[in-house]
Amino acid sequence: MAKILGIDLGTTNSCIAVIEGEEPTVIVNTEGLRTTPSMVAFTTKGERHVGIHAKRQAAVNPERTIYGIKRLIGRRASDESIKELEATLPYRIAPSPTGDAWVKIDSETYSPQEISAIIIRKLRESAESYCSEEIKQCVVAVPAYFNDAQRQATRDACKLAGLNVLRIMNEPTLAALAFGVKKNATGYIGVFDLGGGTFDISILQCSEGTFKVLATAGNNHLGGNDFDTLIYAYLADKFKEETGVDISGDKMAVQRVREAAEQIKCELSSLSETQVNLPFLAIGPSGPLHLSITVTRTELESLVEPLIEQLDAPCLDALDKAGLSADDLEEVLLVGGMTRMPAVRARVERIFGNKASHSVNPDEAVALGAAIQSGILGGDIQEVILLDVTPLNLGLEISGDRVSTIIERNTSIPTRASKVFTTTENNQSFVRITIVQGDSPKASECAKLGTFVLTDIPPMPAGKPRIEVQFSINADGVVNVQGIEKQTGAVKEIVIQDSVGLSSQELATARERI
Ligand code: AMP
Repeated sequence: MAKILGIDLGTTNSCIAVIEGEEPTVIVNTEGLRTTPSMVAFTTKGERHVGIHAKRQAAVNPERTIYGIKRLIGRRASDESIKELEATLPYRIAPSPTGDAWVKIDSETYSPQEISAIIIRKLRESAESYCSEEIKQCVVAVPAYFNDAQRQATRDACKLAGLNVLRIMNEPTLAALAFGVKKNATGYIGVFDLGGGTFDISILQCSEGTFKVLATAGNNHLGGNDFDTLIYAYLADKFKEETGVDISGDKMAVQRVREAAEQIKCELSSLSETQVNLPFLAIGPSGPLHLSITVTRTELESLVEPLIEQLDAPCLDALDKAGLSADDLEEVLLVGGMTRMPAVRARVERIFGNKASHSVNPDEAVALGAAIQSGILGGDIQEVILLDVTPLNLGLEISGDRVSTIIERNTSIPTRASKVFTTTENNQSFVRITIVQGDSPKASECAKLGTFVLTDIPPMPAGKPRIEVQFSINADGVVNVQGIEKQTGAVKEIVIQDSVGLSSQELATARERI
C-alpha cells in the first residue's frame, strides 16, 4: 500500500507523520528536526529558503521572509483583520486580481497557496527521503474553524505541492484521535488547541473506537502571534522611553525585537524572569543604542491578560452547544505550542476544572492523528470511526445585511439541506444568491463564499418557477451547491462569481514557479 502522508500545516511550525505497521510515526525532516518552521524566504540573489534556513536569516532579510502564511490563506485583502495583521508584518500584502490576500516580495506577488505549497513540498521531500518512496497522497489538517474558502485553498496548496488530498480534517479532532486511539478513550473529552495563529476548542464523545465531535468553537484570529505582537509593542515602547528612538520604521530592528518577543514568551513558560539583550538595535545622536531589559512572568501575564480572557467564550459556547458542563468531561487535551504557557494552562483549569491533560505532545498530536486517519483510509487501521461537525453556519445573504441560515453550525458532516427559490419578475431568466459562512447574524461579518447565478430559467410568471438549491457539506467540510428547476427537473448551471481561490491560470503559473 502506497504511503499516505499526514500533514499538520501549522501557522508557525509544521509536522508530518506516517503509519508504520499500525503505529503513527513523526517524520524527522532533512535537517533532523521533528517540526519544520512554516517559513519561506526569497533572497536578493534569487535563492529560496524554506523552514529552519528561512527562519535563521529572517532578522537580516525581514521583507522577503514570509511567516504566518496560514493567516492569509483563503482570505480577502479587504478584510478588516487582514489590514490589522498587515500592520504587524514585515512583508507586504497585496490584493490578487480578484481581491484575495496575496503577498508581495519586491515586484513579484505570490498567493498563500503557492507559499504554503513550497513548505508542503519540502515536507513531502523529507517524507519521501524517510520512507524511500514517492508520496502522492495526503491527509491534511486545518483549524476546525476554517471556512470553505480556507479549506479549498489548503487543498490547492497540497495539489500544487504534488499531493492529492484524500481528506481534509479538523486539527482538534485529529489530536483527539491520536490521544483516543492510544488510550482507548471512553467518555467526553475536550481538545483545547491554541497554536501560532488560531484557537479551536472541540468537545468529543469517545466510545469503543468511535469519536464523535459534539461541538466545536474557536477564534480564527487568536494565536501565539497575537501574544508576540503585544510583547513586541511593550519592548519597543520601553526602548523608546529609554532612548527616545522609535524603531517602527526600521524593519530589521522590528524583526529582531519580534523574535526576542517570541523567545521571552517561550522562556517565561519555564522561568520566572528573563533578560532581553539586543545590542546595536538603533543609532542615536550619541552612537549605537542597545535594548537590555528584564521581563518577569508576572509582567508578561498582565500584558497578555486581554488575550487570555478571549479564551473563555468559545469554551463555554462549545460546552453549551454539546449540552454538557465542564464536570461531564473526563479530560481536556492541550494541543498547540501556546498551551505550554502557564497562564494558558491556568485558564484551562479555571474554565474546565482540574481536567487539563498533558498526555499528548502539543506539537505532534495533530500530525499523528492525520497519520492515523491515513491508516484508516489505507486499511492499516480498522475499527475506528470518526464523526465530525461543520464549525460555522452556512447561509444566504438576505436584505438588511442579514443571513438566512441553511445549515447550522455543529451539524454532523457530511450533511445536505435544500431551499426553494422563485422569481420576483415575469420571465426572469436568472436568480442570484450569495452564500455566506460564519457565526455572525450579519452577512457583512461572515465570509462570502461566492455569488451563485441560477441561469436559463424558462419564461414564467413571477413567483411560478420553483428552483430548489441543494447545499451539501462533505466530510472535508467543503461546500457544494447545485440548483434544480422543479417545473422542468433541469439541473441549473450555477455560475460562481466573486469566490475566493485561484483560477486555473493562476494555479498553472504557481505550478511552474514552485
Ligand atoms: P503551533 O502552531 O502549535 O506550532 O504553536 C506555535 C506557537 O506556540 C508559537 O506562537 C510559539 O511561540 C508558541 N510556543 C511554542 N513553545 C512555547 C512555550 N514553551 N511557551 C509559550 N509559547 C510557546
